Amino acid sequence: MYDIIIIGGGPAGLTAAIYAARANKKVLVLEATICGGQIVNSSKIENYPVAPGITGPEFGRILQKQAENLGAEIEFERALKITEKDGHKIVSTEDDEYETKAVILASGTEPRRLELENEEKLIGHGVSYCATCDGNFFKGKTVAVNGGGNSALHEAIYLSGLAKKVCLIHRRDEFRGGIDLVEKAKARKNIEIVLNATIESLHGDNKLESITIKQGSTEKTIKLDGLFVSIGREPKAKNLMPELDLDDGGFIEAGESCTTNVDGIFVAGDVRSKDVRQLVTATGDGAIAATAALHYLEKA
Ligand code: NAP
Repeated sequence: MYDIIIIGGGPAGLTAAIYAARANKKVLVLEATICGGQIVNSSKIENYPVAPGITGPEFGRILQKQAENLGAEIEFERALKITEKDGHKIVSTEDDEYETKAVILASGTEPRRLELENEEKLIGHGVSYCATCDGNFFKGKTVAVNGGGNSALHEAIYLSGLAKKVCLIHRRDEFRGGIDLVEKAKARKNIEIVLNATIESLHGDNKLESITIKQGSTEKTIKLDGLFVSIGREPKAKNLMPELDLDDGGFIEAGESCTTNVDGIFVAGDVRSKDVRQLVTATGDGAIAATAALHYLEKA
């Protein structure tokens, strides 16, 4: 039996693991892919105190090692379900069931999909959700970025240094992202901005060949080598535990104490309902959720 199982090995989850392990608790982190979370896609971190310029992968590696050195166990399995049994929690993965006294959910977010036919099939074959991960495959090619937030603007600017042409497609006539980034994108000669446009369909059998966009009543097909979808992120909280209170966006309700409505279940990082989703707030949540879980264990 574990004292605390942490679901998610990103900055929030691993920070929670550090705090719980330092308190001599038996801790398991369940991570579906690789440790570090979303930050592993960042080539450079400039806004985390004391570590200016550190790369995302390096940040993830150091954090993982720090948690392991303190005694936290890490298993690379996807948590699918949390249930209650005799006052304890059971966390089920595809192959195992783990018993624990408390759970900290730090499962993060995933890219929102366009929900178009063909989209799933073309992922990795022209459709991507991460320019820093896949941009290199499109050197000298023609790509599009869909979205109007800071991420889409960043991706378009980054890709303009690699691709021959970048088409930035946004559904409104005004960007959601900051004016500095908008001005920077506008200044790039190889970025074409297409406003009031939605992507209607993706074409290509084994790889993306073109997309059809709709602007007002006009439909147009554009030949492309790559499409980067950057239309926001969604919480990875669905179906884990139906008893948990979620907000309208599907994020887990908890407040600043990181304590959910279910006894013994805590939440940290981007999957929590909150205003500021940053590396520093994720690690802050990890510390708060672990402290709340430790108090819960003392009382139990
Ligand atoms: P975001 O700010 O939520 O922007 C999502 C964009 O996608 C919006 O422009 C939205 O259009 C569009 N969109 C949403 N659903 C769509 C759909 N189904 N079809 C077409 N377009 C759709 O998300 P984000 O850019 O990923 O940023 C997330 C957070 O991180 C934000 O708070 C952002 O400021 C922050 N961030 C900050 C930086 C930075 O450098 N400071 C960098 C990256 C991210 P509408 O505008 O019409 O809703």
